[in-house]
Amino acid sequence: MTDLSQPVAAAESEAQPAGVAPPLWLLAELTYRCPLHCVFCYNPVNYTDHSSELDTAQWIDVLREARALGAAQLGFSGGEPLLRDDLEVLVSEARKLGFYTNLITSGIGLTDKRLDALKDAGLDHIQLSFQDSTQELNDFLSSTRTFELKKRVAEAIKAHGFPMVLNCVLHRYNLPHVDKIIDMALAMGAEYLELANTQYYGWAHTNRAQLMPTAEQLKEAEAVVERYRREIGERCRIFFVVPDYFERRPKRCMNGWGSVFLGIAPDGAALPCHTARSLPGLTFPNVRDISLREIWYESDAFNRFRGFDWMKEPCRSCDEKTIDLGGCRCQAYLLTQDPANADPVCDKSPHHESVIRVVRAAAAREANEQPVLFRNDANSRRLAATHDDDDPTQGTRK
Ligand code: SF4
Ligand code: SF4
Repeated sequence: MTDLSQPVAAAESEAQPAGVAPPLWLLAELTYRCPLHCVFCYNPVNYTDHSSELDTAQWIDVLREARALGAAQLGFSGGEPLLRDDLEVLVSEARKLGFYTNLITSGIGLTDKRLDALKDAGLDHIQLSFQDSTQELNDFLSSTRTFELKKRVAEAIKAHGFPMVLNCVLHRYNLPHVDKIIDMALAMGAEYLELANTQYYGWAHTNRAQLMPTAEQLKEAEAVVERYRREIGERCRIFFVVPDYFERRPKRCMNGWGSVFLGIAPDGAALPCHTARSLPGLTFPNVRDISLREIWYESDAFNRFRGFDWMKEPCRSCDEKTIDLGGCRCQAYLLTQDPANADPVCDKSPHHESVIRVVRAAAAREANEQPVLFRNDANSRRLAATHDDDDPTQGTRK
C-alpha cells in the first residue's frame, strides 16, 4: 500500500515503465450488495463467492495510490454504493485528492440527508439508473417496487443542484419505449441520457435469449433517438450505442486491456475491465497484497492482453488490429472458449456464425417465452454451485 506520508506529487513523478500509460479512470465497486435484482446486471453471476469488502482505510489507500498513478476520473459503483455508510468519507477523500467523482446508483437510499452530505463532501456528478419509463416494467426488471421512489430521487438530485445522467439499459422488453424514456429524462431535467443497449456479460449473458432484441427494434429505436436529437438540440445529450452482436467489427474494448481503466472489485481484486473475472487462467491481483503500481505495470493479469503479441490469427496479421485491438477478451471467451481469439462479433472471425445464430434466433422468436433469472443471492449461489468449467455458455463464471 502507499506510504501515506508521501505526497501525491512526489509519487506522480516516479518514472513510468516504457510503453504503458498510467490509468485514467478508476472504478471503485464498493460492494456487490444491492437492493435491486436486475436481469441484465453486469456483476459476476457468482458474486456471492466474493462477498468480503475492503474497509474504509483500505479504500482510502486505493484512492491515494490510484491518484498517485495518474487516475483522474473516479466512479463509485457496486452493487449499490449507497449501502456503504462510509461513502461520504470516501467522496470527501477523493475530492481532496483532486478526482472528478461520479456516483453510479440505483437511487435506493439516496435521501435528502445523504444528498446534503454528498454535496458537502464534494461529489461532482450522479448517474441514476431506471429500468424503464413505466412502473410495470421498471419494477418487473428489477424485481422490486422502486419506480416511484426513483422518480422522487431524480427530483431530489436536481433540487440539490447535481448534474445528472439518467441511465437506462435497453433490450427486447423496453426498446419499444425509447420515446417515453427520452420524455421521462427530459421531464426530470437530466443533462445526459445514456441509452445503454445491453452488452451480454454477467447476468445479461445468462438471460441473453430473453433480452436479445431484433434488428428491427434497434433500427426503430435509433430512428426515434435521431428524431429527438434533432428536436431537443443541446438540452439533453443522448448516448445510444448499438449492441455488439449487431455490428460487423468489435468495439475497442475498454480502449484496450490495461490501457486507461482500472476497476477494483469489492474484495480488492484489481480488474482491467468490469467483467474480466469471467476469464479462465488469470489470477487477478488484490490491493490487499501488492501496490497498485505493481498491479498496473507488472502483474501478469494486466499485461496478458496488452499490445499485439498475444493475438492469434486472423487478428495477428490483420490491418485493422490497431483500430479495435481484436475486440473484447470476455466476449471472445464467452463465445469461443478462448479469450485470445478474435472477438467473434468480427465477421473475419471463424466464429462469427455463433453471433449470427443468436441474432437469427431473436428474430425468429415471437415472444419472451422463457422466464428470466433475477440477480439475487439464491440464484448466484445456485449458479456458482452448478458451474461447469468446460461450458462458458452457462451463466456461471470461473
Ligand atoms: S444492475 Fe441492478 S442489480 Fe446490478 S448493481 Fe445495478 S441496480 Fe444493482
Ligand atoms: S480480425 Fe481481429 S483485428 Fe481484424 S478487424 Fe477482426 S477483430 Fe479486429
